[in-house]
Amino acid sequence: MPGVSAFASSRPLHPGELADAPVRYPRPTRLAHQLCVDGAKSRAAAATLGLQTVGDLLEHLPRDRREARCIGQLVAGETATVVVEVRVIAARSVRRRGMRPLVEATVADASGSMTATFFNQPWLAQKYPAGTRLALHGKYETRNRFRVQGHARTAEATAGETGVAHYPATEGLTSTQILALVRAHADALQDVGEPLPAMLRVSERLPERREALAALHFDADDEHAARRRLAFEELLLAQLALLRRRRLRGRGRSAPALDGAPERSRRWLTELLPFALTGDQRRAIEEIDADLARARPMQRLLMGEVGSGKTVVALHALLRAVEQGHQGLMMAPTEVLAEQHFATIQALMPGEAVAIGLLTGSTPARRRADLLGKLATGELSLIVGTHALIEDPVRFAALAVAVIDEQHRFGVRQRAALDAKAPAGQGPHMLHMTATPIPRTLALSHYGDLDFTVLAELPRGRQPIQTFVCSTERERARAYDRIREELRTGRQAFVVCPLVAESELMQARAATAEFERLRGGELREFSVALLHGQLSAHDKHDVMARFAAGEADVLVATSVIEVGIDVPNATVMLVEDADHYGLSQLHQLRGRIGRGEHPSLCLLFGAKGSARLRALARHSDGFALAEVDLELRGEGELVGTRQSGMAQFRIAELPRDRELLERARLRAEAIDAADPELELAEHALLGDALRGLYGAEAGAPIRA
Ligand code: ADP
Ligand code: MG
Repeated sequence: MPGVSAFASSRPLHPGELADAPVRYPRPTRLAHQLCVDGAKSRAAAATLGLQTVGDLLEHLPRDRREARCIGQLVAGETATVVVEVRVIAARSVRRRGMRPLVEATVADASGSMTATFFNQPWLAQKYPAGTRLALHGKYETRNRFRVQGHARTAEATAGETGVAHYPATEGLTSTQILALVRAHADALQDVGEPLPAMLRVSERLPERREALAALHFDADDEHAARRRLAFEELLLAQLALLRRRRLRGRGRSAPALDGAPERSRRWLTELLPFALTGDQRRAIEEIDADLARARPMQRLLMGEVGSGKTVVALHALLRAVEQGHQGLMMAPTEVLAEQHFATIQALMPGEAVAIGLLTGSTPARRRADLLGKLATGELSLIVGTHALIEDPVRFAALAVAVIDEQHRFGVRQRAALDAKAPAGQGPHMLHMTATPIPRTLALSHYGDLDFTVLAELPRGRQPIQTFVCSTERERARAYDRIREELRTGRQAFVVCPLVAESELMQARAATAEFERLRGGELREFSVALLHGQLSAHDKHDVMARFAAGEADVLVATSVIEVGIDVPNATVMLVEDADHYGLSQLHQLRGRIGRGEHPSLCLLFGAKGSARLRALARHSDGFALAEVDLELRGEGELVGTRQSGMAQFRIAELPRDRELLERARLRAEAIDAADPELELAEHALLGDALRGLYGAEAGAPIRA
């Protein structure tokens, strides 16, 4: 069987070897035994590290391997790990009181020898007789002495070859002490069970779990295969939990099956909409229609860049609810956005007799009372708004479709509150929208319980945006030249001010200062307007309306324009201190230009060397940028994933393990389809692992 030798620590078996192997069956209960640690301080440290049982200890994996140094290379004052052999060892007799018991050993490796000193552990002279191989961690001092801080017996290996496992440790329990504990309990690895079904494990060529753990603790050679093995298991369990959650979601809760004939919505698409849908929009609408027609709540994530036309798709879903006598809502994270949606929807429905309301925090009380009344009776069928929509007094007569824009900016509780707005026992069909392209890797790992639709194709007529990074004063002067050129031909420009982390107030001040500066300086011949978060909703609205109407040539703004403004005549954007913004944020900002018939120009001020700015200059595709962002920042940092609660896997690391994730997803889908309750004997241990990790309901806590 040639395949067998591919497993982590399996040599090909020699004939007769099996018969000689001691009979020892795994007894997982032994892993639950209390871990014994000598010394009160170390015991407390072990508890801090979460090492209560032998099983905890074996699952406490090294972060990396400290490359062991050779004695010959050590320099005085250096702290290092060495792998040595004991030549001579003796406890120095303690004569005077108050002197600490001391053990001295002459230790050596191929490059030299030195005197190692161990304090306060007189018994070591017996424990480590001459010939013992040790990993020592400590400080190399003058006169060729090595003051030992941590020590453990180690495998027969030469220094340069393996290195020493380096564990997450804490004061009171050093990495080397942990290694010693692990060695002392190495036997218990035999008790580690195997959750992966044998067929899967063999065809994925993964070592057994216990072999993988052993390799990570002791044997650097098999480390790669071992990590891969454990990462696969981790990803598989996560995918199983997500799939399970998707399957069970809304169980016991129904949604109105919106499967009636499309009359109004059809007429709207074919006759009233002032443009033809893109292919992606058509596909998205079909997918959503199929979801809506089921009596189970839709949970779909619609991803599309700014300007990809998500609103049209969402509006169609809302109209499907309305034309069948139900209600729909669209919720946005900010007032500016909600107002923008409200305006877009009104513009997209010329002559449609659908009543639609806008509810935000600044809706006057009278108007609000009126809206709430009409929502409760069903007189009002469509409402756009902010969080104000999910407050308690808001009741719907028959909410069937809820669209959530920039869904990652809402928390789990807010989404749950929205769920509760549907009639009792029902959940609304939910369409989550995001303009932040999520790379497939992340989409699978974080939103694997949602269905996805992507709008990749931008509506026809979109103009390319040229992006430049500007760093020098000459480039700045040239940038204003370019802006003036554009303005003189009748175009408009955005100037985006530096992000001020301290407060919105300070940010507003900075924007105001820049506004004054430009108005009296480089852009003095033009009409300049100012927009920031400290303006009242009314003033914001007013400024945006003036800019949209072409009454102002330049809009100096803070990042409040990140989302929401649609001014096709704006063709230049200048971003100050661009390197203070995140990559996806800059991409969103840039989406404010290139929306009309003219080519556009984006000028990013910042360091030429910035990887983010360079990526923006190179790519215009949001998905490509999202992948770059993921590479640059690692998964936990990406917008919208931090609060997801499973950003960090213990072993798997995205995007590095993306290929593994795809495989795990496929396997999980197959298992979930064939044996959803994990009842088959071969899935029993997998089921245990799933419950162990994700709780009895296997999946519920993943994103809660
Ligand atoms: P998003 O919400 O994805 O940022 P919108 O739905 O607001 O995008 O659309 C951006 C602009 O493009 C709007 O002015 C909209 O009317 C227009 N638009 C949408 N779909 C199309 C299309 N298929 N053809 C032409 N213009 C479109
Ligand atoms: Mg939009």
